Amino acid sequence: MKIICIGRNYADHATELNDGAALPKEPLFFLKPDTALLRNNDPFYIPRFSERVDYECELVVKINRVGKCIDRRFAHRYYDEVGLGIDFTARDLQRKAIAEGLPWEASKCFDHSAALSPEFVPLLEVGAIDNLHFDLRVNGQVRQQGNTAEMLFSVDEIISHVSQYMTLKIGDLIYTGTPCGVGPVAVGDNLVATLEGHELLNFDIR
Ligand code: ZN
Repeated sequence: MKIICIGRNYADHATELNDGAALPKEPLFFLKPDTALLRNNDPFYIPRFSERVDYECELVVKINRVGKCIDRRFAHRYYDEVGLGIDFTARDLQRKAIAEGLPWEASKCFDHSAALSPEFVPLLEVGAIDNLHFDLRVNGQVRQQGNTAEMLFSVDEIISHVSQYMTLKIGDLIYTGTPCGVGPVAVGDNLVATLEGHELLNFDIR
């Protein structure tokens, strides 16, 4: 099982990063290992190696068929349920890596950096993949709101693109990018994420 993460997939978030990079012309992706998963709404422990860990709330698509070189027209056949996740990012380490042209793994792929909702919701229940609303509240305050209609690259475009390079397998997860509003977590914070009225994530930062 692999975790595929899409970077800069919402223009307003790409802008807030303010690192001078242009909007991507094709989906930008990277992988997290399975050891990054944080399941069951377990608490997230801030790692010692970072002074600033940001939350990034994202729609997560679960692949349900094996496929490679998938045509965009057929990409919708490869998933039928969605969940939510948090792509935790050690922003200080990531900025340093970007500045030095080095890989992102230390900042993005550490243990428990991929919180995953225990529950996935059938698309038949929540609606069309390209018009799903989700939000993240931190300590009861809305910090992020996204709609998949605002993605630079749709889920089907992502699946088609990534599958040109690597075979998608059953159970693979795609974190589809975060809207604007990312920010740091602090010990004692409570994170709640909702997808079309379904509360899927609710866990604490320690
Ligand atoms: Zn992300």
